[in-house]
Amino acid sequence: MADAAAHLSVDPGQLAELPRGAGVYIFHGAGQLPLYIGKSVDIRARVMSHMRAPDEASMMAQTKRIDVIETAGEIGALLLESRLIKTQNPLFNQRLRRIRSLCSVQLHSTAQGQVPQIVDGQSVHLGATSGLYGLFSSRHAAVGKLKALAQQHSLCLAALGLEKASARGCFGLQIKTCLGTCVGLEDRQTHDQRLLSALVDSQVEVWPFSGPVDLVEEAGNWVQRHRVNNWCYLGTWCSRTGAMQHSANFKSTDFDLDSYKILVKPIMLQTVHLELVAP
Ligand SMILES: [Zn+2]
Repeated sequence: MADAAAHLSVDPGQLAELPRGAGVYIFHGAGQLPLYIGKSVDIRARVMSHMRAPDEASMMAQTKRIDVIETAGEIGALLLESRLIKTQNPLFNQRLRRIRSLCSVQLHSTAQGQVPQIVDGQSVHLGATSGLYGLFSSRHAAVGKLKALAQQHSLCLAALGLEKASARGCFGLQIKTCLGTCVGLEDRQTHDQRLLSALVDSQVEVWPFSGPVDLVEEAGNWVQRHRVNNWCYLGTWCSRTGAMQHSANFKSTDFDLDSYKILVKPIMLQTVHLELVAP
């Protein structure tokens, strides 16, 4: 503890007062931008572990003040952290690249068989369309994933439309990563079945409700209701203020990748308390 506090410019008294509950903490230095934003279900323990990490000594030495925003639960902390990192761009957080248009993979039935096509959020309604696989920051990333899957699962590059079909077969055939779909050694239906099983783990979940839901988190008699629609976080109602705080910049039918990543497991596995919002 003495060691840990030694390379911190913040008042040790403040450390002892950090809450043991869930929320977001913000390290401030001398500059305008925060140094770092993080979240935890135990803010004090998490901040102390930052202080023990040797590779974070420089960041902690620059920290002069720690701000804390408590939340009623872990999901609220995750949603708030994600929003704050995006709007405040802290120096030590991994920089989040702005994604212009999310891409995904959709299978198209053709006379030959199933052919994957790259679609983007403008041509399909993400969250409302079934049969989409993977979420990518660019077409290039989506194609890269298909090529990687082809190699891992011995799929045919020509059948996937990643290479022009020729009589000699695809490049994968020469290096023996294709089972010969392109030259008739493997039946196309069998190939497409294997393609589907290669993709199934990255299936984009369709929003399972007809409208918005509130994800309810409680700590004692403190209640927060996080409103979500189509995998997009819309805002939080808090029993302490009696008011709804809206998350800026989102329309209620938008799809948001950060919210999706945070919410997809708890909502699909129903490990959280959800309430339908009356229309
Ligand atoms: Zn092939």
